[in-house]
Amino acid sequence: MRSDAKIFVAGHRGMVGSAIVRKLEQAGYSNLLLKSSAELDLRNQSAVAAFFEQHKPDYVFLAAARVGGIIANSTRKAEFIYDNLMIQTNVIHEAWKSGVQRLLFLGSTCIYPKFAPQPIREADLLTSPLEPSNDAYAVAKIAGIVQCRSYNQQYGTRFLAAMPNNLYGPGDNYDLTGSHVLPALLRKFHEAKQSGSPNVTVWGTGTPLREFMHVDDLADASLFLMLLDDERYGSILTYSDAPALINVGSGQEISIADLARMVQQVVGFEGELVFDTDKPDGTPRKLANSSRLHALGWKHRIELEEGVRDAYRWFVGHVFP
Ligand code: GDP
Repeated sequence: MRSDAKIFVAGHRGMVGSAIVRKLEQAGYSNLLLKSSAELDLRNQSAVAAFFEQHKPDYVFLAAARVGGIIANSTRKAEFIYDNLMIQTNVIHEAWKSGVQRLLFLGSTCIYPKFAPQPIREADLLTSPLEPSNDAYAVAKIAGIVQCRSYNQQYGTRFLAAMPNNLYGPGDNYDLTGSHVLPALLRKFHEAKQSGSPNVTVWGTGTPLREFMHVDDLADASLFLMLLDDERYGSILTYSDAPALINVGSGQEISIADLARMVQQVVGFEGELVFDTDKPDGTPRKLANSSRLHALGWKHRIELEEGVRDAYRWFVGHVFP
């Protein structure tokens, strides 16, 4: 990827897209195509077609998506399936038509079966039923993976899908009804500390295990994948058991209860934790097997506690000073 390559980062205002933009800028890429959703509604087929025809990007990072935590995913399924299917179908299709050299489609490990063997390998996709709370999101993302594969097979494109685990970091969604667990806990502990509340409620039993990764590590992995030489990039596209699909994990697995204690300590809240077992646990464990990415030479850099401190600094500076 030449430093003047035209790179479209779809979803650059989101947590993932903005981290990718920061990473690209740091690495010296200056010809970035960035459009807000008000300027370009990626759900609109003719608008996306006109955009690609006019700008003809060389590379695409497809980070635009409707995302959210367990409650948002289970109560707004129509939006999750419609928005994600429309965005990715339009972008992947027009990327093919306009001759994009490489495209990286980002999803999440939510795509894997609820009771997938752990750690979850890429080849576990579609081997048993999904977790019902986020099946609409998962089905949409799985369609995007199959779309990348299908276009690679039929049209010779070089489109790749990367599945990170639970991400967090600057630019995260801190709205308690839509957010994921880590930003939700940062906010809850911060507010409880400010107001002198005696306790903080954690949803579910606290026993589910999740793997977390700082979004700057994902951005680093995304650029790493985009820059792989043709042979190694091609090897991912042609894995016989899971073509064009690669996990991006940190291996940093922790129970929700332990995560809550870690966030509590980072924020400095001295009250009690209360577990609300009327709220869903979701899938019991979601640890990605990232050995394929590791074998290619990539590893995360930001350890969880350091990352939580960074996210808290951003939260205090931007959301809830
Ligand atoms: P998931 O990884 O798709 O299940 O998404 P989440 O990040 O929303 O939830 C992960 C786990 O954290 C689930 O077991 C939740 O019940 C639990 N959790 C505990 N407290 C919270 C909270 O305040 N918000 C969210 N979103 N999840 C919470």
